Amino acid sequence: MKTLFKTLFTIAALGLSTQPTLAEKEARFLLGGKSSGSKQTPKSHGSYAKGCLAGGEELAENGPTWQAMRLSRGRNWGHPDMIAYLKRISAEVARETNWKGLYIGDISQPRGGPMISGHASHQLGLDADIWMLPARDLKLSRRTRETLSSSDVRSSNKKSVSGDWTYTHMQVMKIAASDPAVDRIFVTAPAKIYMCKNARGNKKWLQKIRPYWGHNHHFHVRLKCPKGSSGCITQKPTAAALSKGGTGCDETLNWWVTAALKPAKPNPNKKKKKVKKKKHPRQFVMADLPNQCSKVLRSR
Ligand SMILES: [Zn+2]
Repeated sequence: MKTLFKTLFTIAALGLSTQPTLAEKEARFLLGGKSSGSKQTPKSHGSYAKGCLAGGEELAENGPTWQAMRLSRGRNWGHPDMIAYLKRISAEVARETNWKGLYIGDISQPRGGPMISGHASHQLGLDADIWMLPARDLKLSRRTRETLSSSDVRSSNKKSVSGDWTYTHMQVMKIAASDPAVDRIFVTAPAKIYMCKNARGNKKWLQKIRPYWGHNHHFHVRLKCPKGSSGCITQKPTAAALSKGGTGCDETLNWWVTAALKPAKPNPNKKKKKVKKKKHPRQFVMADLPNQCSKVLRSR
């Protein structure tokens, strides 16, 4: 009896003393706890929804053609290629349209990685949300940037664009998509349908515009893996990208505003497939991310 007691006691003590190693700790708290970029050569490591960012650069809160929004989140950091892209296209928007520039929402955390709340992607410093609200005032207070809401460009029945959508939105998205650094842009389907109908001239840029759920208050720009980021995993090209001259303006687009909106009918004969539940990025531990992310975390 005495021996059993002793054994149990030892097991309990051992259990208590096992601290989680760095590899076992939750990535979102570690990477999300950093308030500055790592002092490393800029590189995106991993994939858009499983990775991190070395040498992240901060997008200035104010610029001649942009405002960084929701500053309290600390997500105005990106790969230097992304920061340069945002400056470049916001300047073009100011030059070519009746907007003064762009309101920039979330990019990434200073060192990228999974976040405590929100996005699954935005982990490499290569994703950025751009507000649908036309930028008219470029001197917003910090407080206004927290409380201001963006425009909703989708109608309440989700089938068409709303009254807040304008021709200029298309001009802005064309500028954003035409830049060679862009891999794809996610936007609500009614916006893409509008653009397919109303775009004039060369429509090649439409190939990069992808319909997706949500994305009616902002559009989401995803850049290609930058040169020099050998550990960066890009996404598979879309069918439209693979077919020469494809724009994605076909019948499949209508699915988003028809069948996709109907509630699924229960089918009693259909056997439920057992699918292994994938971890959400918020559950990632450091060991789930590329090895380089531990270095990014520990770097100055
Ligand atoms: Zn986004």
